[in-house]
Amino acid sequence: MDSVFTDTENSSSSDFSGEYAEDLSYSSLQDIPGPVLNRASELRALSLAYNHLSPFIGQSIAAFRNLVKLDISNNDLFQFSEEIGGLVKLRTLIARNNHLCSENIPKSLANLKTLEVVNMSGNQFVDVPPIFLKLEKLRYLHLGANQIKELPVQIKELTHLEVLYLGGNLLTEIPSEVGCLSELNTLALCDNKLHTLPRSLIHLRKLRSLSLHNNQLSTLPPEIVSLDLVELSLRNNPLVVRFVKDLVCDPPSLLELAGRTIKYEKLNYGQEDIPENLQNYLESAKSCVNPKCKGVYFSSRCENVKFVDFCGKYRLPLLQYLCTPRCSTAKPSVCVSSDTDTDDEDVAVARMKKVLLG
Ligand SMILES: [Zn+2]
Repeated sequence: MDSVFTDTENSSSSDFSGEYAEDLSYSSLQDIPGPVLNRASELRALSLAYNHLSPFIGQSIAAFRNLVKLDISNNDLFQFSEEIGGLVKLRTLIARNNHLCSENIPKSLANLKTLEVVNMSGNQFVDVPPIFLKLEKLRYLHLGANQIKELPVQIKELTHLEVLYLGGNLLTEIPSEVGCLSELNTLALCDNKLHTLPRSLIHLRKLRSLSLHNNQLSTLPPEIVSLDLVELSLRNNPLVVRFVKDLVCDPPSLLELAGRTIKYEKLNYGQEDIPENLQNYLESAKSCVNPKCKGVYFSSRCENVKFVDFCGKYRLPLLQYLCTPRCSTAKPSVCVSSDTDTDDEDVAVARMKKVLLG
């Protein structure tokens, strides 16, 4: 078979050259020309990109029953005709930059059991079309630059997925089921509204590229450090711009200060000495994460960023909590020293530059 059919990922026009391919891109077409229809059944690859085939690809598409690769990007399409379900040998379907939405994806698309590549970036999807989740052989799914608000948990059904591109959507969270996509090597979640990431990402042992830039992430799950990434983008997230100047620390209440002293001094108190609600309060004390600090905190805690080596290339900021603003890994916190200046902030700034550059 012609080598153009082996590369299922890219969609450059050169993929549509060769004896069994037809490149009709940029041809101002409103319909498929007769001479091309006459040899429709022998074609393996067809590009109709950048034409005027709206409002939809008509019945004539059914004639191309041996197509392996079809590109109908940039046609102002609102829908496909049901006939597209007849292209049962199709492995690559590219329909970028149209006006497609879930309701207008025909059910017949589920017939295309051989589809490995679907690229429908730049359309009008507000969700992932359920039919896509039944395409069991999918390896590449590109749905960037849509208005998708939610990723369904059924995404885990696409067990062969290697590339999942969801950049430029409206996602606020990612379901933990993404961690089931064991073949995934590229996950693009940039330009969304993500506040958190699921810890299950740790299960993506083949993941090499993770794009997270332009989100609302203020922390990363600590588990992310164990991934074997080659590419990681984090720029324009609160976690890389906020923590140096804007770490949050509420002043402790008198109750909290008293509680901390009782815990730190290990004062004994009997059940009859103090009311039950105070006993419960004292039991809720949490230990400071600073190993050099024996301090505790209750509700008043200080956000602190701990840098962790990552893939030998980055120093990642992970969020943890300390008992007081003075408590750092360099000093115990409870003993307040007059020697308050440390280089911690300078070090933090230097480390942050590494992350930003990465
Ligand atoms: Zn502490």
